[in-house]
Amino acid sequence: MAAPRLTISERMARIRKVDTKPELIVRRLLHSLGYRYRLHRTDLPGNPDIVFPSRRKVVFVHGCFWHQHDCKLGAKMPKARPEYWGPKLERNKTRDARNLEALQATGWSTLIVWECQTRTSGALEPTLRRFLD
Ligand SMILES: [Zn+2]
Repeated sequence: MAAPRLTISERMARIRKVDTKPELIVRRLLHSLGYRYRLHRTDLPGNPDIVFPSRRKVVFVHGCFWHQHDCKLGAKMPKARPEYWGPKLERNKTRDARNLEALQATGWSTLIVWECQTRTSGALEPTLRRFLD
């Protein structure tokens, strides 16, 4: 018996289960929407994950814990060595803000996609389209 044909969203859902790395989820979605991008431009502040040079736009895909998102994942604090993690995560946050400012000051538009957003199917596509079109 032939395998049933899957819709694109069913295929995307399957991919998501296999590979849950947030950045790959965003890249696959952008690719399926027809956007062309470059990766990890080291000459830009913060080394943005996904770069659209002709649109002068960049996307950061941020882990909620590492970049202290205002969500359940970001609020988690390791029980061991809070005196280490507190300042370290605070520094990450400060550095992120500085990088965004530096990019915006040189005419780049920025979008942060949070890890938790990549776990909710359907919400990401309109956000990316709004940012890029
Ligand atoms: Zn989050």
